[in-house]
Amino acid sequence: MPALSDFETPNTPTWCPGCGNFGMSRALRTAYSELGLPFEKLAVVWGIGCHGNGADFTRCQGFHALHGRALPIATGLHLSNPDLTVVVEMGDGDAFGIGLGHFAHSCRRNLDITSITHDNQVYGLTTGQASPTTEQYAHSPSTPTGVLEQPVNTVGLAIAEGATFVARGFSDDVEHLTGLVKEAITHRGFAVLDVFQPCVTWNKLNTHAWFRDRIYKLEESGWDPTDRAAAMALTMTTFSELTCSPEECRIPTGVIYRETGRPTYADGLPQLTGPLWKQALTPRDISKALAEQS
Ligand code: SF4
Repeated sequence: MPALSDFETPNTPTWCPGCGNFGMSRALRTAYSELGLPFEKLAVVWGIGCHGNGADFTRCQGFHALHGRALPIATGLHLSNPDLTVVVEMGDGDAFGIGLGHFAHSCRRNLDITSITHDNQVYGLTTGQASPTTEQYAHSPSTPTGVLEQPVNTVGLAIAEGATFVARGFSDDVEHLTGLVKEAITHRGFAVLDVFQPCVTWNKLNTHAWFRDRIYKLEESGWDPTDRAAAMALTMTTFSELTCSPEECRIPTGVIYRETGRPTYADGLPQLTGPLWKQALTPRDISKALAEQS
């Protein structure tokens, strides 16, 4: 089994002290180690955000994509080399703003890849503007009189669009998060793991303490993650409100929905028998087609 240190590089993360990225990074590398993922089989695609420089700190086949475009890159990687374990890390603006279309279509394709979001409910990298998951009426540099829209229901959207594994984690609980990452990666199909990851510099509302006061674990409440309708209904309660007290506002973490047996996108492409680069080039005679064009 590769050691945790096998997924580290000599570079030191540049995140703010106290950032939830540290817990997420630890959980991800621990999961890679415990799953025994060899370096050459692990491909991680990062989007844009404070987490996005993760390729500097994680030893793997890494790709730093454009804002919102991590999922298309990951799709290409997965389909051109089905032997890879493909993990995507995105921010909430990345996945649910500019990349929302890619996210929805990836869910309905049931691609066999893992989508993990650093959900800190703010654009941290660009100094605190409201993101698609910022709470309604919250004030930010870009919304000085408050956000008018409701936040995107990230996990509800994933279930509605066809993701077959949908979970939520919290970056402070590294052990629990590690287990969720492992379940997401080993799930066959599109796995969505939305992780609350406090931004201590720009989000003064959804702090570490704020989450700790409200979060509970689904597996400790006897939750059945196979009931899609119930899972969808549960996600409607995961919205928080500015005035919501810890007693009124309970936020579930853990596996919200899991479906096994649904064909993946690649199942419909039997020609994908392995990495494309290993397939023999078969010369084709195209002279007839060229002649018809002339
Ligand atoms: Fe983390 Fe926020 Fe600092 Fe970015 S700005 S590194 S998200 S605490």
